[in-house]
Amino acid sequence: MITLEDFDTYPDFPVEGILFYDIAPILASPERFREACIQLMPPRDAQVDIVAGVDARGFIFAPVVAQTLDVGMAMVRKAGKMPGVDLLESSTEIEYGSRDLAVSAGSIEGRHVLVIDDVLATGGTARAVAQMLERGGAASVRFSFLIEIGDLPGRDALEGYAVTSVVVV
Ligand code: 5GP
Repeated sequence: MITLEDFDTYPDFPVEGILFYDIAPILASPERFREACIQLMPPRDAQVDIVAGVDARGFIFAPVVAQTLDVGMAMVRKAGKMPGVDLLESSTEIEYGSRDLAVSAGSIEGRHVLVIDDVLATGGTARAVAQMLERGGAASVRFSFLIEIGDLPGRDALEGYAVTSVVVV
């Protein structure tokens, strides 16, 4: 089981007032990394056609989950990194600063999408991603996070979506 003790915490990073949860200790241990990927798996009865990893730390876990589910993976990238005209785009405010993301539309239309990211904080990023995927015709959107920060309104922001969180702090 992954617990809060598996993360390093850094007060006032990247800006004052933010407690930063660092996943490096989990990645450094093959057992912990494997366990985190297992716990990020959706319930057995969940329909998933593609796993979308959110830039950057979602990219670490999404491919492992996608391969385990035997489905493909899509990259939800920071804006400006993806070539091509066939892009879905979103912009949102997060705990610190704003975030512009994009995904290739061709990988999303008609698909049941599992979105993976490391942290659910205010839910701003995840909600914007869900709306972007729905604009692109996703059949459904669900989420898995490593950490859910319970005293922030992430769950409320994702009302109506299925959410799996490995650790709630
Ligand atoms: P939200 O949009 O829910 O406020 O913030 C979630 C996004 O910000 C995630 O993409 C996550 O990677 C990043 N983030 C916010 N707080 C933390 C944190 O404490 N640790 C890490 N690793 N990422 C964070």
